[in-house]
Amino acid sequence: MPAGIIDGKAIAAQIRLEVADRVSALKKKGVVPGLAVILVGENPASVTYVANKQKACAEVGMRSFVRRFPADVSEEMVLAEIKKLNMDPSCHGILVQLPLPKHIREAACIEAIDPKKDVDGFHPVNVGRMLIGESSFIPCTPAGIVELLRRSKVKIEGAEAVVVGRSNIVGKPVALLLLRENATVTVCHTRTRSLGEVTRRADILVVAAGRPRMISGDMIKEGATVIDVGINRVDGKLVGDVDFETARERCGLITPVPGGVGPMTIAMLLKQCVEAAELNVH
Ligand code: NAD
Repeated sequence: MPAGIIDGKAIAAQIRLEVADRVSALKKKGVVPGLAVILVGENPASVTYVANKQKACAEVGMRSFVRRFPADVSEEMVLAEIKKLNMDPSCHGILVQLPLPKHIREAACIEAIDPKKDVDGFHPVNVGRMLIGESSFIPCTPAGIVELLRRSKVKIEGAEAVVVGRSNIVGKPVALLLLRENATVTVCHTRTRSLGEVTRRADILVVAAGRPRMISGDMIKEGATVIDVGINRVDGKLVGDVDFETARERCGLITPVPGGVGPMTIAMLLKQCVEAAELNVH
């Protein structure tokens, strides 16, 4: 029997409704949650992502403001704007849209954000807190993956979890979060030997490698839950890192691409932004 589909679009829509309720409750206390986005240059993908974030904020009743800079702006100017936003009480979350032009250091910009407003969860203080299991903002895609598993009633505790990919924005944080939920976690990367042997052990397989259809059905344990994070464009079509057709014959549950992990990222950003605003209400 083909695997069940984890409908990320529907789960994300549910989270947005929950966020909208929390925004209404805050408004009754006189607080409108606000997200500031710093956009440098006119990279078309970044412009689209920022527009999507603004639209999503408006839909849940949150305020959003975009600080736009030309591609040749100095790092100093960007850092000065972040410092201003840190002090601005109407701004509860700040994110810097990546990538930045080469002359601006990403790390310097991220570290300039007040960790209490770092709703993307990339500040080293939040990364450190996540590592030691304290409450913190968490990178949105990994947070979305754990939320998908929870809401699909997948048992994480005691499960063999295998993560393919070790980037700072997906692979490493999702591995830490699964460990925190008491899975037995293995992380694979480009130098992993016999990848299929490792992935076949997984009850929960998370693939974030950016390689179209690299995981085929024969690399998956029967009945496993497969979370496909990859977004790749092949012949004009979006495909994941998992070969959906062969995987579906083996696994128990699977996320589609598009419509799986993708919609969760913005939903989790909104959730963390409303949380940042709630933390400010006394
Ligand atoms: P990245 O390029 O920074 O990292 C890829 C990781 O995969 C690396 O750690 C690398 O070691 C590993 N890898 C690459 N090829 C491999 C192979 N053949 N075998 C084993 N490991 C291999 O990528 P990223 O930023 O983590 O993104 C991964 C994918 O997820 C991309 O397709 C990206 O577009 C997508 N993504 C989706 C969302 C979302 O919202 N759904 C968010 C972020 C990234």
